[in-house]
Amino acid sequence: MARYIGPVCRMCRREGIKLFLKGERCYTDKCAIERRSYPPGQHGQGRGKKATEYSVQLREKQKLRRIYGMLEMPFRRFFALAERQRGVTGENLVTLLERRLDNMVYRMGFSTSRSEARQLVRHGHFLVNQRRVTIPSYLVGPGDAVQVKEASRKVARIQESVELAQRRGVPEWLEVDKESFTGKVRALPTRTQISLPVNEQLIVELYSKV
Ligand code: SF4
Repeated sequence: MARYIGPVCRMCRREGIKLFLKGERCYTDKCAIERRSYPPGQHGQGRGKKATEYSVQLREKQKLRRIYGMLEMPFRRFFALAERQRGVTGENLVTLLERRLDNMVYRMGFSTSRSEARQLVRHGHFLVNQRRVTIPSYLVGPGDAVQVKEASRKVARIQESVELAQRRGVPEWLEVDKESFTGKVRALPTRTQISLPVNEQLIVELYSKV
Protein backbone atom coordinates (compact mmCIF):
# COMPACT_ATOMS: atom_id res chain seq x y z
CA MET A 1 0.00 0.00 0.00
CA ALA A 2 1.51 3.30 -1.09
CA ARG A 3 1.95 6.01 1.48
CA TYR A 4 3.69 9.36 1.86
CA ILE A 5 7.18 8.94 3.30
CA GLY A 6 8.51 12.52 3.05
CA PRO A 7 8.94 15.02 5.91
CA VAL A 8 5.59 15.46 7.63
CA CYS A 9 6.23 18.71 9.52
CA ARG A 10 6.66 20.32 6.13
CA MET A 11 2.98 19.61 5.48
CA CYS A 12 1.93 21.51 8.60
CA ARG A 13 4.10 24.44 7.60
CA ARG A 14 2.61 24.37 4.10
CA GLU A 15 -0.94 24.53 5.51
CA GLY A 16 0.05 27.03 8.19
CA ILE A 17 -1.53 25.08 11.06
CA LYS A 18 -0.72 22.16 13.30
CA LEU A 19 -2.02 18.97 11.73
CA PHE A 20 -0.79 16.81 14.64
CA LEU A 21 0.94 14.21 12.48
CA LYS A 22 3.83 13.34 14.77
CA GLY A 23 2.25 12.26 18.00
CA GLU A 24 3.78 13.59 21.19
CA ARG A 25 6.27 15.83 19.46
CA CYS A 26 3.36 18.01 18.28
CA TYR A 27 2.70 19.05 21.88
CA THR A 28 6.28 20.09 22.59
CA ASP A 29 8.33 23.14 21.64
CA LYS A 30 10.13 20.94 19.08
CA CYS A 31 7.09 21.35 16.83
CA ALA A 32 8.27 22.85 13.54
CA ILE A 33 5.28 25.23 13.38
CA GLU A 34 6.34 26.75 16.70
CA ARG A 35 9.87 27.26 15.43
CA ARG A 36 9.28 28.23 11.80
CA SER A 37 5.74 29.32 11.22
CA TYR A 38 6.20 30.15 7.54
CA PRO A 39 5.79 27.92 4.46
CA PRO A 40 8.67 25.59 3.58
CA GLY A 41 10.97 26.10 0.63
CA GLN A 42 13.19 28.78 -0.82
CA HIS A 43 10.36 31.32 -1.11
CA GLY A 44 8.66 30.46 2.15
CA GLN A 45 9.54 33.77 3.73
CA GLY A 46 8.82 35.80 0.62
CA ARG A 47 5.82 38.05 0.10
CA GLY A 48 3.71 35.15 -1.09
CA LYS A 49 1.29 35.00 -3.99
CA LYS A 50 -2.24 36.34 -3.97
CA ALA A 51 -4.61 33.53 -3.09
CA THR A 52 -6.99 32.57 -5.89
CA GLU A 53 -10.31 30.80 -5.44
CA TYR A 54 -8.73 27.63 -6.75
CA SER A 55 -5.71 27.82 -4.44
CA VAL A 56 -7.94 28.30 -1.37
CA GLN A 57 -10.04 25.27 -2.34
CA LEU A 58 -6.93 23.23 -3.08
CA ARG A 59 -5.39 24.04 0.31
CA GLU A 60 -8.56 22.90 2.11
CA LYS A 61 -8.49 19.62 0.24
CA GLN A 62 -4.80 19.07 0.94
CA LYS A 63 -5.30 19.91 4.59
CA LEU A 64 -8.07 17.34 5.06
CA ARG A 65 -6.22 14.68 3.07
CA ARG A 66 -3.07 15.21 5.10
CA ILE A 67 -4.83 15.17 8.44
CA TYR A 68 -6.09 11.66 7.65
CA GLY A 69 -2.81 10.63 5.99
CA MET A 70 -4.34 9.71 2.66
CA LEU A 71 -3.01 9.83 -0.87
CA GLU A 72 -5.05 11.46 -3.62
CA MET A 73 -6.62 8.37 -5.17
CA PRO A 74 -7.96 6.79 -1.96
CA PHE A 75 -9.17 10.23 -0.90
CA ARG A 76 -11.05 10.58 -4.19
CA ARG A 77 -12.65 7.20 -3.63
CA PHE A 78 -13.91 8.39 -0.25
CA PHE A 79 -15.24 11.53 -1.89
CA ALA A 80 -17.06 9.47 -4.55
CA LEU A 81 -18.60 7.36 -1.78
CA ALA A 82 -19.67 10.53 0.08
CA GLU A 83 -21.28 11.86 -3.09
CA ARG A 84 -23.35 8.71 -3.49
CA GLN A 85 -24.73 8.99 0.04
CA ARG A 86 -27.79 11.02 0.99
CA GLY A 87 -27.24 14.36 2.67
CA VAL A 88 -24.55 17.00 2.39
CA THR A 89 -21.54 15.64 0.50
CA GLY A 90 -18.92 17.55 2.51
CA GLU A 91 -20.33 16.36 5.81
CA ASN A 92 -20.65 12.81 4.50
CA LEU A 93 -16.98 12.94 3.53
CA VAL A 94 -15.84 14.05 6.98
CA THR A 95 -17.99 11.39 8.67
CA LEU A 96 -16.63 8.69 6.37
CA LEU A 97 -13.07 9.73 7.15
CA GLU A 98 -13.83 9.62 10.87
CA ARG A 99 -15.13 6.08 10.48
CA ARG A 100 -11.78 4.75 9.23
CA LEU A 101 -10.33 2.19 11.60
CA ASP A 102 -6.97 3.98 11.85
CA ASN A 103 -8.78 7.17 12.85
CA MET A 104 -10.90 5.33 15.42
CA VAL A 105 -7.77 3.81 16.98
CA TYR A 106 -6.27 7.31 17.23
CA ARG A 107 -9.45 8.92 18.56
CA MET A 108 -9.81 6.18 21.17
CA GLY A 109 -6.28 6.90 22.35
CA PHE A 110 -4.59 3.62 21.40
CA SER A 111 -2.02 5.50 19.31
CA THR A 112 -0.46 8.94 19.42
CA SER A 113 -1.07 9.73 15.74
CA ARG A 114 -3.08 8.41 12.82
CA SER A 115 0.06 7.21 11.05
CA GLU A 116 1.04 5.18 14.10
CA ALA A 117 -2.53 3.84 14.27
CA ARG A 118 -2.26 2.81 10.66
CA GLN A 119 0.90 0.83 11.32
CA LEU A 120 -0.53 -0.82 14.44
CA VAL A 121 -3.66 -1.85 12.52
CA ARG A 122 -1.56 -3.27 9.69
CA HIS A 123 0.43 -5.28 12.21
CA GLY A 124 -2.78 -6.93 13.41
CA HIS A 125 -3.04 -5.50 16.92
CA PHE A 126 -6.78 -4.73 16.74
CA LEU A 127 -10.07 -6.59 16.72
CA VAL A 128 -13.34 -5.14 15.49
CA ASN A 129 -16.29 -6.95 17.02
CA GLN A 130 -13.89 -9.73 18.08
CA ARG A 131 -12.50 -10.23 14.58
CA ARG A 132 -8.97 -9.26 13.58
CA VAL A 133 -8.94 -6.44 11.05
CA THR A 134 -5.71 -5.29 9.37
CA ILE A 135 -7.15 -2.78 6.92
CA PRO A 136 -6.67 0.86 8.08
CA SER A 137 -9.47 2.12 5.82
CA TYR A 138 -11.99 -0.39 7.21
CA LEU A 139 -15.17 1.54 8.06
CA VAL A 140 -16.29 1.18 11.65
CA GLY A 141 -19.99 1.75 12.29
CA PRO A 142 -22.27 2.65 15.19
CA GLY A 143 -22.29 0.00 17.92
CA ASP A 144 -19.00 -1.54 16.75
CA ALA A 145 -16.36 -2.36 19.33
CA VAL A 146 -12.65 -1.83 18.63
CA GLN A 147 -10.35 -3.71 20.96
CA VAL A 148 -6.61 -4.14 21.36
CA LYS A 149 -5.84 -7.85 20.94
CA GLU A 150 -5.07 -9.47 24.29
CA ALA A 151 -1.51 -10.39 23.33
CA SER A 152 -0.88 -6.82 22.14
CA ARG A 153 -1.87 -5.06 25.37
CA LYS A 154 1.72 -5.23 26.59
CA VAL A 155 3.05 -3.43 23.51
CA ALA A 156 4.86 -0.41 24.95
CA ARG A 157 3.65 1.98 22.22
CA ILE A 158 0.02 1.13 22.91
CA GLN A 159 0.39 1.36 26.69
CA GLU A 160 2.15 4.71 26.47
CA SER A 161 -0.44 6.01 24.04
CA VAL A 162 -3.29 5.15 26.41
CA GLU A 163 -1.59 7.17 29.16
CA LEU A 164 -0.74 10.11 26.93
CA ALA A 165 -4.18 10.19 25.28
CA GLN A 166 -5.76 11.59 28.43
CA ARG A 167 -4.55 15.02 27.43
CA ARG A 168 -6.42 14.78 24.11
CA GLY A 169 -9.62 13.41 25.62
CA VAL A 170 -12.12 11.10 23.92
CA PRO A 171 -14.91 12.49 21.71
CA GLU A 172 -18.41 12.23 23.16
CA TRP A 173 -19.56 9.87 20.42
CA LEU A 174 -17.05 7.23 21.54
CA GLU A 175 -16.66 5.41 24.82
CA VAL A 176 -13.39 3.88 25.93
CA ASP A 177 -12.60 1.45 28.69
CA LYS A 178 -8.89 1.74 29.41
CA GLU A 179 -8.84 -1.39 31.58
CA SER A 180 -10.08 -3.69 28.84
CA PHE A 181 -8.42 -1.70 26.03
CA THR A 182 -11.78 -1.44 24.31
CA GLY A 183 -13.56 1.40 22.58
CA LYS A 184 -17.11 1.50 21.35
CA VAL A 185 -18.81 3.75 18.81
CA ARG A 186 -21.92 5.15 20.50
CA ALA A 187 -23.19 6.79 17.34
CA LEU A 188 -21.78 8.34 14.20
CA PRO A 189 -20.66 11.90 14.87
CA THR A 190 -22.40 14.95 13.49
CA ARG A 191 -20.20 17.54 11.79
CA THR A 192 -20.32 19.81 14.82
CA GLN A 193 -18.95 16.98 16.99
CA ILE A 194 -15.86 16.64 14.80
CA SER A 195 -13.28 19.30 15.48
CA LEU A 196 -11.50 19.84 12.19
CA PRO A 197 -10.04 23.15 10.97
CA VAL A 198 -11.36 22.52 7.47
CA ASN A 199 -14.13 23.96 5.33
CA GLU A 200 -15.20 20.81 3.49
CA GLN A 201 -17.63 22.72 1.27
CA LEU A 202 -14.63 24.18 -0.56
CA ILE A 203 -13.45 20.63 -1.32
CA VAL A 204 -16.85 19.82 -2.84
CA GLU A 205 -16.54 22.94 -4.98
CA LEU A 206 -13.01 21.98 -6.03
CA TYR A 207 -13.95 18.48 -7.12
CA SER A 208 -17.06 19.71 -8.90
CA LYS A 209 -14.74 21.51 -11.37
CA VAL A 210 -12.70 18.47 -12.40
FE1 SF4 B 1 2.93 19.36 12.61
FE2 SF4 B 1 3.38 17.84 14.72
FE3 SF4 B 1 5.40 18.53 13.08
FE4 SF4 B 1 4.27 20.32 14.71
S1 SF4 B 1 5.44 18.50 15.30
S2 SF4 B 1 4.78 20.63 12.56
S3 SF4 B 1 2.10 19.68 14.65
S4 SF4 B 1 3.63 17.25 12.59
